[in-house]
Amino acid sequence: MVTSRPAVNAAERFWSKVVKGPAQGDCWLWAAAVGDDGYGRFTLNADGRTVAVRPHRFAFHLLHGSDLDAFGPLMHTCDVPICVHATADTFTHLVEGTSRSNMLDRLAKGRDANGSSFRWRGLARAQFAAGSVALRDEVRAHGWDRPLRVAALLAGVDPDAPTLF
Ligand SMILES: [Zn+2]
Repeated sequence: MVTSRPAVNAAERFWSKVVKGPAQGDCWLWAAAVGDDGYGRFTLNADGRTVAVRPHRFAFHLLHGSDLDAFGPLMHTCDVPICVHATADTFTHLVEGTSRSNMLDRLAKGRDANGSSFRWRGLARAQFAAGSVALRDEVRAHGWDRPLRVAALLAGVDPDAPTLF
């Protein structure tokens, strides 16, 4: 059992690495380490050990206060692997895997404004990771100040590629 003090510090450290989009339904993007699987890495000390966790799982843990391993696989409704938008309202981008049917239902009803990112699906691992890194690099350097570039990267499009006609 850890005291609350390190947990508070870990939470502060965690949120300092996150860039939130300006709209309520936007992604909250992890702007720090990304692994070669395309998911972020957040390191923290637990019981004297240093462990790396996926930031979206840590965000879900912060929201619900449960142990990191107390919940099952999480799914991104936005399909953006470095998104950590975990909230208790309908704007959340993270749901437990068992809630997939709920998520699909919500998508079908058009309540997810951010349904842009299905291009992420079916990508090879290297492309998937490169997409995460490009998005991470953009928000780390510029925050959400270049929204068109962020939108392109969220959609899995290289904003520097020439337009195809
Ligand atoms: Zn998201």
